[in-house]
This record gives sequence, structure tokens and C-alpha cells, in this order.
Amino acid sequence: MNTHAAFSASYAAARAKFLEAATAAGMTLRSYEHPLKGRDGETLAMDVALDGSPDAEKLFVISSACHGVEGYCGSGVQVYAAHDAEWRAQARAGGVAVLYIHALNPHGFSHARRTTHENVDLNRNFHDFSKPLPVNEPYRDVHALLLPAQWPPTAENQAAIAAHIETQGMARYQAAVSQGQHEFADGMFFGGTEPSWSNRTLRQVLQTFGQSARRLAWMDLHTGLGPSGVGERIFACKDDPQALARTRAWWDGGGATPVTSFYDGSSSSALLTGLLWSAVYDECPQAEYTGMAMEYGTLPILDMIAALRADHWLYKHPEAPAAQHAAIKRQMMNAFYVDTDEWRTQIVTQARQAMFQAVDGLNTP
Ligand SMILES: [Zn+2]
Repeated sequence: MNTHAAFSASYAAARAKFLEAATAAGMTLRSYEHPLKGRDGETLAMDVALDGSPDAEKLFVISSACHGVEGYCGSGVQVYAAHDAEWRAQARAGGVAVLYIHALNPHGFSHARRTTHENVDLNRNFHDFSKPLPVNEPYRDVHALLLPAQWPPTAENQAAIAAHIETQGMARYQAAVSQGQHEFADGMFFGGTEPSWSNRTLRQVLQTFGQSARRLAWMDLHTGLGPSGVGERIFACKDDPQALARTRAWWDGGGATPVTSFYDGSSSSALLTGLLWSAVYDECPQAEYTGMAMEYGTLPILDMIAALRADHWLYKHPEAPAAQHAAIKRQMMNAFYVDTDEWRTQIVTQARQAMFQAVDGLNTP
């Protein structure tokens, strides 16, 4: 399949391509239907396809659209892989079953939002909600600044944010905004106060497909941070030196950028909690888990945050004129997907390299 054809301009088209490819490849398919409909009235679902034996002891998970809108990228990688005979043969020869999870957050994918329909950032939502949740005090200071009453923001608002960044520094500003918060249900990067639909559904997926695995690898596909087209491989496990060493042994090298970690400050991501991969430790405790988030760059970070602020403002102002709605959705798409064949080729090339590395890694004692 050519790279261009693997990607789609709507969730409905992406879903159709994925289901078609998985069916043609004879994969085991299961769809978990979402309670709401999509932007065009289409069915929304977390679709899961297993390529290989359900009894395989080596399992490699490739997932997309944890942050809905980022699925325009991740789905393309999955569709390409499902058509990729050389890749499929390599996994089979290595005794590795591959589990594709298409659209962890289908609602956000369809509506070009980062969050779920509950306004939850799915990658901040995997907490033990019976325990006290982390408190993000710095977010309290920026919440009102980020989401002013009018959009586009006034010169006064822009000056206030610039002054805030000036005094706090860029890294602290990024952390305040993006590390997640559980206090403002209508705010940005809200981690929720209970498990979201996607959280509960992913756990079902792992309970169904993850129980035979003795070794489990995961590549979760994201966009929005770092230089355009460059895939940053971010360590996505508990802060455990053995897991980090394994992740680096598998995914460093081959000309790829080195695996980074937000535990030691080497990643472009802030230190986060409540991450999706926590579910693996809960639901597949029998497996040795090795995980990586592939984070592809798009735009400079302030442009990315500007798009998220605009989209969040729109969420709070559904009465906004149609032209403004369309402009903000275009801004979101541009912030999380680069619509050029050059970028798409960069995405697929790096994902594919990491996939072959995962099969080798799963076969390294
Ligand atoms: Zn993401």
C-alpha cells in the first residue's frame, strides 16, 4: 500500500480502512461500541484486531488516538502495518502476536478533539480513584488565563500569558498546563475523577487479549511535541531502571533518536501521572511489560497549546459561529497532523523501524 492511502481525512474513513485491512488479513476483530455518535453521525468504536495466536506468549500492542485528534496519524500507521506483508511475516516468524487498538478515544478522533467526550485527557485518567488524586497547584494560576471569555484572546490576555511565561519559565508553564489536573472539570488536561469510557474499555480489551502474554511490548502513537516529523521515543513504564534499560536496548539505535524519559528530564514531555500504560500493570500482572510512546512532532509548542486553548474555548462556547468553529477545527488538525506526503512517510518509516525492533526485543532473553 502506498503511504498516502493509509491515512484518512475523517474518523469514519480511517475506521473503514482499518476494518477492511484487518478483515482482509484474516485478523481476529472485536469492536467496542461507544455510547455516542461521531461528528457525521457515524458509529464510534474502539476496534481491536489481533494478528496472530490468542495463546502467544509474546504480544506487541500498537495503539492510536489516546488523544483523539492524534489518531489521524496513528491510524495511518496501523492501516499501513495491516497491509505490510513483510512486517506481518516478520512478527509471525518471531512468534509475536500483534494487537492493534484502533481509536482508544474514538469520540475525540471524530470531533478533532484531544480529550474524550467526558472532557478527560485519557493519558492522565489512569489513577486509583479510591485514593487522593495529585494536586496541580500551578494550574490554578493559569486556568482563567488559558480560557478567557472571548476568542481570539485580547491583547491584554496575551500579554498576561507572556508575562507569566517570562517569570515562570517555559518548562514550568508547560508543566502547569499539561501535567494534568483533577479540580477543574471544564478545564484543560483534566484527568477526571473517575475512569472514563475509554479507560474502562481498554481494561476489557486487556482482560480479553492480554492474559496469555508473558512478555508484552507496547507502542502508543502520539503527535504534537517536538520537531516536525521526528518521532521521540518516550519511555512509557513505571520508573524502574530494569524496564528503562530494556526499553533502551530495544529501541535505541538504528539511527533513531535515543529513548527519552520524563523521570530524568530528558523528554520533551513534562512529568506526568495517571498514564494509560498503568492499565497493563493492573490487568496483565503476569507479563513483563516494555512500553514506549512514539511522539511525533508537528508545530512549535506554543502553537500547539494555542490550538488546544482555542478548541477548549470552542467546547465551552458551542454557540460560536460556524466559520469560527471550522477555523478552530482546522487549527487543531494542523497542530496534530501535518498534511504532506513527506511527513506521512517520515511517520511510517520510523514506526516501522520501531515495530521490527520490538519483535527483536521480544525475542531477546
Ligand atoms: Zn498525545
